[in-house]
Amino acid sequence: MSEVVRNPAGTGSIEDTWSALPAGQQPEWPDAAELSSVVSELRSYPPLVFAGEADQLKDRIAAVSRGEAFLLTGGDCAETFAGVTADAIRAKLKTLLQMAVVLTYAASLPVVKVGRIAGQYSKPRSKPTETRDGVTLPAYRGDSVNGFDFTPEARTPDPKRLLRLYQASASTLNLVRAFTTGGYADMRQVHAWNQDFVAGSPSGERYEALAGEIDRALQFMRACGTEPEELRTVEFYAAHEGLVLPYESALTRIDSRTGNPYATSGHYIWIGERTRDLDGAHVEYFSRISNPIGIKLGPGTAPDDALSYLDRLDPDREPGRLSFIVRMGAGQVREKLPALVEKVRGEGHQVAWICDPMHGNTFEAPSGHKTRRFDDVLDEVKGFFEVHHGLGSHPGGIHVELTGEDVTECVGGGTEIALDALHQRYETLCDPRLNRSQSLDLAFLVAEMLRA
Ligand code: PEP
Ligand code: MN
Repeated sequence: MSEVVRNPAGTGSIEDTWSALPAGQQPEWPDAAELSSVVSELRSYPPLVFAGEADQLKDRIAAVSRGEAFLLTGGDCAETFAGVTADAIRAKLKTLLQMAVVLTYAASLPVVKVGRIAGQYSKPRSKPTETRDGVTLPAYRGDSVNGFDFTPEARTPDPKRLLRLYQASASTLNLVRAFTTGGYADMRQVHAWNQDFVAGSPSGERYEALAGEIDRALQFMRACGTEPEELRTVEFYAAHEGLVLPYESALTRIDSRTGNPYATSGHYIWIGERTRDLDGAHVEYFSRISNPIGIKLGPGTAPDDALSYLDRLDPDREPGRLSFIVRMGAGQVREKLPALVEKVRGEGHQVAWICDPMHGNTFEAPSGHKTRRFDDVLDEVKGFFEVHHGLGSHPGGIHVELTGEDVTECVGGGTEIALDALHQRYETLCDPRLNRSQSLDLAFLVAEMLRA
């Protein structure tokens, strides 16, 4: 039996495993005593998710790695405390449900649905500080750490925000659970999710036609005397980057069934591109928990690194445990991905390969907005599919930044947002997201690739 880290009630704590190692992208908390009192408080809180749910997701991701399912992960780059409203949560969920329906119906594959939601509040930054008009302040690291306003008060990391992170995650998850199991996600609502969207939107109209086909299939089943229970609710999981280690540790609990530690801040957490140092604190922490986990792999990843991650994070080669989320950029995915896939396959192990077509395709518009081209996003997904089809492996899923609102943050798409229109509704505090219509466009295009 592997060494068990007891937390919170036992003699040891999971912090003991990683705290001596270098941890990238951690805020400079001004007051260590205050952080430690926040951590103690968090330890007394109930878990946000249960180990059994995380295990169920691991089973679903195992099916993805066998080529029997497709993983859809989507949500904000950075959630905000102000964004915890019923309308915003419903809009994101609706977008994901619509995308999932398109993918499921067109590809006849089960779709595993995961939100970048209920915990995605902490951000790694390319620079620790930001300078405006000669004034330098700490960079914004997400609502869990500091405020977005460019003032010394807002930008000073405040450990109490970790308590708000927990509360924001809990209330979001509560609503998501209500929506997904309380009737809103019932397949018979397939038209209702589109109601506010059809007029004037090409992707909305295309969706409406597909919903009509689904409706007829449901009526046919009903006429035959069957109405499967599975269509009434949706299995939905919450994911975020596991970045701020004191928070993740404080919510790590021992599963009473197995004695194994689980992160209970979300079902699935991932290691970001900037914190995947093999000798660093993040890899160490993630190696101790039993959840399904992901690791972002950028264009600098050597094929041997992929094997080292497998050895460190999935030594037992447990199906569904580790997914590789590749974010190479449209220009590099065709060149860089094949060697990784071949190396892992040569090992005899099947992992879930997920495409993040966002983070390798960011650029600055002349207006100064950070943006992405819809066509680059699409091209990276295409390259990802081409590589997998060429090697006979399974393109397991996509991981995208999106919102349910009609924002103007990424250029292009069916409704053609132009570079000079970005200012119209640019609301993200971090990376640009696909809006609802661009998200649906993407789902239709990915569905075609899946069918090919
Ligand atoms: C993110 O997912 O928002 C992110 C920062 O990604 P990456 O770690 O791949 O840069
Ligand atoms: Mn991002």
